[in-house]
Amino acid sequence: MAGFRRLRIILLLLVLLVVSVNTWLGIVRIQSWERPVWVVLYPINADGRADTQAYIDALDVVHFEDVQLFLHREAQRYGVYLDPLVELKLAPAITEEPPGVSDFPGVMESIFWSLRMRWWSWRTDSWSGPEPDVRIYLRYFSTGGRVRLEHSLGLQKGMIGLVNGFASVDYIDTNNFVIVHELMHTFGASDKYDLESNLPVYPHGFADPDQSPLLPQTRAEVMAGRIKVSPGWVLMSPSLKQVVVGPETAREVGWFGAVKPQN
Ligand SMILES: [Zn+2]
Repeated sequence: MAGFRRLRIILLLLVLLVVSVNTWLGIVRIQSWERPVWVVLYPINADGRADTQAYIDALDVVHFEDVQLFLHREAQRYGVYLDPLVELKLAPAITEEPPGVSDFPGVMESIFWSLRMRWWSWRTDSWSGPEPDVRIYLRYFSTGGRVRLEHSLGLQKGMIGLVNGFASVDYIDTNNFVIVHELMHTFGASDKYDLESNLPVYPHGFADPDQSPLLPQTRAEVMAGRIKVSPGWVLMSPSLKQVVVGPETAREVGWFGAVKPQN
């Protein structure tokens, strides 16, 4: 029995090693910004409702255009002129729910979740084009159902993002913002807000940290999410037009020192 257990542990470690090396190679390639990153979006009807399904059936890749435009605009500010920066594709909807994960997973849970996600995404893949660099799963909920959504997640380990969003045209901007945020995680960016208070962390979580007076801020940093208006007041950004990628996030995703193809 002891030998069998040891074999299982060795096998698991081998799988982890292969996954880690693969992920590392993937992130190195993405962060060189030499060719567009292939991102495939997979919609999921998360509450099984007919109105959610109707929304998913009407989805078109055009609804996610702002994601592409935002990344292109921000990368250019840092001298990365790759065009397109990200190739966005919309896969047919998936009917199966992805493995669950807690709101703030620890290191081990993240690793195991990412392994289960990989297995699940390989099994349920509805995309028949070229192998994606990043997979974003869009779990849609009807606005007529619940009021609060679970946390969205973007794990660099596994190049997978899980976005919870509302199935309504009124939420296209919000959903696109969350997609960008989770996408930036898979590119290597870290959160720039306080996980307990949800407040942007100074200075990297501020879009304009050198502005005087500092408040009110009028734009959000992409990894902070919210705009600090006054000491006790934060706002969600209404659209990606009021969002920027700060220098620290740009450094994390490799926009400084990237190869800079000119067009
Ligand atoms: Zn985040």
